Amino acid sequence: MYDIAIIGAGASGMAAAISAKKEKPKAEILLIEALPRVGKKILATGNGRCNLTNLTAGAESYNNPFVAAVLAKYPPEGIVSFFSSIGLECVNDSESRVYPMSNTASSVLDCLRFEIERLGIEIMTETKAESVKSVNGIFIINSKIRAKKLIVSTGGKASPSQGSDGSGYDLLKSLNHSVTPLYPGLVQLTVKENLRVLKGIRVKAEATLKTHNGKILDRSSGEILFADYGLSGIAVMDISRSAKGNKCICELNVIPELRAEDVSAFIERCKKRNPAQLLEEALAGIIPKKLGHYLIKITGLRADVIMSELKYQQIITLSENLKHLTFTVTGTRGFDNAQITVGGAVTDEFDINTLESKITKGLYCTGELLNVDAPCGGFNLQWAWASGITAGKSAAKSL
Ligand SMILES: Cc1cc2nc3c(=O)[nH]c(=O)nc-3n(C[C@H](O)[C@H](O)[C@H](O)COP(=O)(O)OP(=O)(O)OC[C@H]3O[C@@H](n4cnc5c(N)ncnc54)[C@H](O)[C@@H]3O)c2cc1C
Repeated sequence: MYDIAIIGAGASGMAAAISAKKEKPKAEILLIEALPRVGKKILATGNGRCNLTNLTAGAESYNNPFVAAVLAKYPPEGIVSFFSSIGLECVNDSESRVYPMSNTASSVLDCLRFEIERLGIEIMTETKAESVKSVNGIFIINSKIRAKKLIVSTGGKASPSQGSDGSGYDLLKSLNHSVTPLYPGLVQLTVKENLRVLKGIRVKAEATLKTHNGKILDRSSGEILFADYGLSGIAVMDISRSAKGNKCICELNVIPELRAEDVSAFIERCKKRNPAQLLEEALAGIIPKKLGHYLIKITGLRADVIMSELKYQQIITLSENLKHLTFTVTGTRGFDNAQITVGGAVTDEFDINTLESKITKGLYCTGELLNVDAPCGGFNLQWAWASGITAGKSAAKSL
């Protein structure tokens, strides 16, 4: 009989194990992991650098005010201190994103693993939790592992090749919890338009996600990458959280620095300076040439139109199109390519301070499995660590 069993040795599960053991050093703690090794996803985070938190993270950074009490107790600085206490030093960039000083995600995982080993926490890998029962206040996992307290830290459905295959939702449902509809988040958008000609082009842009009748769902600024299937890059990934299966439109402002009238003035100047120049060549002065080619096409002009042929109204339309490049979103690249899950276990069913279930005593839940999500930039891992530490400490204190 274990004192605490934790299902899922990812970011939040490992933080929960360490915190629980530090709170109650004599407690027998078991970490159960489906994959052959712990923390596989951590290695893929932040493009292999692990953007482990963001110094600006607060309750307003998330979809759900449920996070407020946990983040007040374990704000980003508290997470940096947690890592310092296990031997990992961190640095932050100009956008407040925090990384390990080594600039490699494996340092984060190694420090967590070494601390788990040092504390004598038992790890059971290649063990998928398929069933959980609560019998007379004792949790029974896979009909054989028994524990007084249970922390479910299985992550969501995003990136299932890294272990989070959505099985945690079924475990929670079997303990009478409810789960909201689930959608892939921080994921590329697929679009109806043929973007093959733009493949590989990167621009800094403002991206707006709208419904077909113009209601703004989300907005973000940053890099956009055009791909043959559609749109990628941080700004698109961020707004993808709000698509939630809706039919929508993605509008890009690829030159946020200029107003539409500034673009028109630029084109007029080019026309005066070199009336024989191809429009495509003139546009190369403000946007990548291939994007200019695409813009000319969607404005309904000939590919070989020259500056002297441009009418006033065509210049206005070109400028407007450039400020509002519009794409019809057909969907996303799905959970396989998503960084997070939007939606999850209904948070009203958990205590905001301890993350203990209000339905099944002794059950706790952490990380992405709960209905908590945030943009790119370290916010999702911030929640994973903070919720893991909270649940670990609370479970240990209640023993
Ligand atoms: C490619 C990529 C890059 C990312 N980069 C960043 C970043 O830089 N910064 C950031 O803040 N966030 C990032 N994220 C998001 C972040 O990694 C997650 O939000 C976070 O890892 C969630 O932590 P978690 O503990 O809830 O779940 P996870 O880290 O997914 O861990 C869950 C663990 O549970 C195990 N498991 C699942 N089901 C079972 C079961 N039934 N039995 C036993 N074990 C089970 C899994 O194998 C896994 O090890 C990224 C995500 C991806 C996919």
